[in-house]
Amino acid sequence: MIWRNVLFTHIFYKIIKFINFLSLVLLMAKTKVDKLEGEVCPMCRQKTLTLMEEEIEVPYFGKLFAFSMSCSTCKYHKADVEAAEQKEPVKYTFEVSSDDDMNVRVIKSSEATVKIPRIATISPGPAAEGYVTNIEGLFERVKEIIDSNKDSDDDKDERKKAKNLLKKITRIMWGKEKIKITIEDPSGNSAIISDRAVKTKLK
Ligand SMILES: [Zn+2]
Repeated sequence: MIWRNVLFTHIFYKIIKFINFLSLVLLMAKTKVDKLEGEVCPMCRQKTLTLMEEEIEVPYFGKLFAFSMSCSTCKYHKADVEAAEQKEPVKYTFEVSSDDDMNVRVIKSSEATVKIPRIATISPGPAAEGYVTNIEGLFERVKEIIDSNKDSDDDKDERKKAKNLLKKITRIMWGKEKIKITIEDPSGNSAIISDRAVKTKLK
């Protein structure tokens, strides 16, 4: 009986995930995409750069533009987001407390600092990217960074530390551990879209 309950919960979870995926696809369908191919790449100077601009309407945030540059020759890639209207410097705090929170939408610009205490800090800078994602997507990115560093690290202790961090992230993603994350953005182009997210002015 317990086993059946577990199975049911699992299937239910999968269905919810599918519905979320569908709504994301539907939302994307509402976006307008502009594409320019054959532009000059700022890195390798070849005419193999593709520029993309997407107009996305995010509920409770407004219209935003997502830009990206990709070069097929040298693999240079850059992406960023910018709100259509001028925004104030902002700080968002959000407590991740259940697996439902994985669906909370996150907008992160290249100027944002994302702090996940005792796990990772995503810093702004020339290599930083901007994107629209959700809490799950944010954790997946952090996991990827830790994972790739883990395999290249020769230090046994560092590898073990990375492994424990990955386990901790998984526990948070399953709703078994809580964590308070913050996003600070002097450009104002970032947001955590939830009524439980605390928005304050960035000093
Ligand atoms: Zn290039």
